[in-house]
Amino acid sequence: MSGLRLQDIRKSFGAVEVIRGVNLEIEHGEFVVFVGPSGCGKSTLLRMIAGLEDISGGTIMIGERAVNDVEPRDRGVAMVFQSYALYPHMSVYDNVGFNLMLSKVPKAERDQQIRAAARSLQMEHLLERKPGQLSGGQRQRVAIGRAIVRNPKVFLFDEPLSNLDAALRGDMRLELARLHRELETTIIYVTHDQVEAMTLADKIVVMDQGTVQQVGSPLDLYDRPANRFVAGFIGSPR
Ligand code: ADP
Ligand code: MG
Repeated sequence: MSGLRLQDIRKSFGAVEVIRGVNLEIEHGEFVVFVGPSGCGKSTLLRMIAGLEDISGGTIMIGERAVNDVEPRDRGVAMVFQSYALYPHMSVYDNVGFNLMLSKVPKAERDQQIRAAARSLQMEHLLERKPGQLSGGQRQRVAIGRAIVRNPKVFLFDEPLSNLDAALRGDMRLELARLHRELETTIIYVTHDQVEAMTLADKIVVMDQGTVQQVGSPLDLYDRPANRFVAGFIGSPR
């Protein structure tokens, strides 16, 4: 079982410290949502967990392993970006299977994993298309499919629904909740949408200016916000 532990995580860009000592324990299987104003450090923290950004201080533990110096592809994490980041010249099939190909997974096994992911995301009929022939919601599914096939212990989502219209966001919220149950993985999810946070999270982490302000269940935060900032952000009447 692999939870995640952040121990005094810090990040500076030049002289500016943007992550200022974050400590957090996440249990295996939890759906944890990070919220906080733009620029508070959510994406930077996620990118450090993924290994896409060097860390300036502290230790990231995934399961029992300190991963500070572990290559992104060996960390057991997969990240889904707001921008989808698909390869425009490749089919959906090849986009989903790309990382498996890089990892030299044999073709037959690759095929099986790609088709299973497509099935679970109800996009089997889209496998031959190119990203340019897909809607925003379909592209987002492809991006999620590409993460699923890597069979990660931890999924990282950075504002994955913010480019979708309201109706589609609602559908995808349900889809993500279903995937979380089905895959039994840990999900770390960044959003600035309170509704998304309140409906999806087992646990919400409220950040401000590179620090964690409060951690708790949606109900905890609503009923007992630790300070005015949290109350304001969560929208509780304190
Ligand atoms: P969020 O995702 O919460 O909106 P970010 O993690 O993107 O916030 O950014 C946190 C802070 O770090 C911001 O002040 C941002 O300007 C700064 N920052 C992020 N990436 C870089 C970078 N590559 N170089 C310099 N500053 C950066
Ligand atoms: Mg961000």
